[in-house]
Amino acid sequence: LTPDRLPDPLQDLVRELARLPGVGPKTAARLAHHLLKVSTVEAEALAQAIVAVKALLFHCSRCNAITAVDPCRFCADARRDPAQLLVVEEPFNIEPIERTGEYHGRYHVLLGALSPLRGVGPEELAIDGLLARLDGVVEVILATNPNVEGEATAHYLARLLKPRGLRVTRLAFGMPVGGDIEYTDEVTLSRSLLGRREI
Ligand SMILES: [Zn+2]
Repeated sequence: LTPDRLPDPLQDLVRELARLPGVGPKTAARLAHHLLKVSTVEAEALAQAIVAVKALLFHCSRCNAITAVDPCRFCADARRDPAQLLVVEEPFNIEPIERTGEYHGRYHVLLGALSPLRGVGPEELAIDGLLARLDGVVEVILATNPNVEGEATAHYLARLLKPRGLRVTRLAFGMPVGGDIEYTDEVTLSRSLLGRREI
């Protein structure tokens, strides 16, 4: 079933679905045919949910987390420790850290990781925003992913931050190498947070 032999609306849907991360052309075709079968109400609920996230959510102007209010709930919460700033690659990396219940500081989202292969340099990341937020910060915890790009990003940031007299730490043991914070279980993540080391 190749997209060019399908009726137009179906072809459009397959093409759009195939652009999603982790969805190949075959999965896209299967999903599209599934959506054809579901009720109109169900299909509209999905379409509405997509429209709503685009209409209602945006990046926090301070930390880049996804939010419906600016500043976001993490930046606005006076009970969170302003001396700690935890740096992640993507907004969806915050929730796993929150679930550990072990972290009560602020966040900063880089919106990516350094990747020479994909042409992502420091100027593509939200590093200026990070450097602008260091007033009152004592420790920066680098919670970029434990893979090649995440490690390169952590070392780049450590070189920038340590000369400023900050304590710079990195999530430690237990994190599978080549892994992703997103897929790390709470217990492991909590242990790697508590066991963080200076880099
Ligand atoms: Zn924020």
